[in-house]
Amino acid sequence: MKDEKRKDVSWQGKCSDTVYIAGSEAEGHFSLINEACSMIIPESAHSAYDKAAQYFNIKLWRIPVNKDFIADVGAIRRCINRNTILIVGSTPGFPHGIIDSIEELGELAFSSEICFHVDLCLGGFVLPFARKLGYPIPPFDFSVKGVTSILADVHKYGLPPKGTSIVLYRNHEIRKATAVLVRTHEVNIGHFVMLIMLHKLNCSWDFLHFFLTFYFLTYSCEVLINSILFNLMAAGKQNQFVAGYSENTREIMEVSKRIQKGIKDISELFIVERPDMTIVAFGSNVIDIFEVNDILSSKGWHLNALQRPNSIHICVTLQHVPVVEDFKDLRDAVQTVKQNPGPISGGLAPIYGAAGKMPDRVMVQELLVDFMDASC
Ligand SMILES: *Cc1c(COP(=O)(O)O)cnc(C)c1O
Repeated sequence: MKDEKRKDVSWQGKCSDTVYIAGSEAEGHFSLINEACSMIIPESAHSAYDKAAQYFNIKLWRIPVNKDFIADVGAIRRCINRNTILIVGSTPGFPHGIIDSIEELGELAFSSEICFHVDLCLGGFVLPFARKLGYPIPPFDFSVKGVTSILADVHKYGLPPKGTSIVLYRNHEIRKATAVLVRTHEVNIGHFVMLIMLHKLNCSWDFLHFFLTFYFLTYSCEVLINSILFNLMAAGKQNQFVAGYSENTREIMEVSKRIQKGIKDISELFIVERPDMTIVAFGSNVIDIFEVNDILSSKGWHLNALQRPNSIHICVTLQHVPVVEDFKDLRDAVQTVKQNPGPISGGLAPIYGAAGKMPDRVMVQELLVDFMDASC
């Protein structure tokens, strides 16, 4: 059965919503996932994949990135075996804002007959417009052979509220395979998609006794779906989606460049490789960058801490457009840390610093879980 399933694209589709679509227990898929399947992701891929792997007990291989901080296609190729169901490429990766080589990964997935999921969570509402505007963005969508699913977070650069994301599949076969149908006592049909689906199937069941969902969340809340539409309209300046998003994209791409220049002008700092979009990661060889982060946090800036190398990133949004001229807070923070090395009281630098240095993942997990548990 395992061999059969290996070639079965619609079954594999159950894993290609990467993040949260499991199989149907009745068909034995779930147990197959548990016992055999693996996904391979670059180290720069988002932690959502670890979460999915942990929830569904899928074996996860995280492969170190290459010297350019992108997916190491050769190393991923060497890791693929008959249990591999999916590889992932990010456009761009969350930590450093750098785009993986989607064409090479697509070729690899296609020739290995496995699914390839493109994580366009951050780039979904920026890259298509940036490309049209002439920024050098390599292909990242279904035009690339081998891409089987794409995930775009609306709740990031699409601008609606949290909890809204879109998953796109290359074909209906894969999408249909994500449906989970359950016989229940409930008479509650949660979403119009189910009705359309049942109608399309021309089914003769008493469908009020079935529950069909395409999503991990049992009720994909219509309020959220409406809010996506409403916000897309507003963000896209009513019916001119493209014009609105293009204008936003141009502004944040330009601001990112200016931020990169501002950081480069501070000699204590370095930028991690070459950011492709609007996420700029930077670190320092001479001072503790996490202490810089603590000072910036106390002044109202929200940057994310990263490791390997220790660095922090700024995710540039429209809010940064009016304040970009001034790098005073960053300059001051760097000078303060340089003159007074040592943890800022109440800051997170010691936690990040310690976690980065501990070789034992279990210890790091215990430390962080205890810290979070105690603090909220
Ligand atoms: C945000 C993000 C995700 C998913 O995170 P959610 O907040 O749970 O939607 C996945 N990948 C990347 C690259 C992201 O930036």
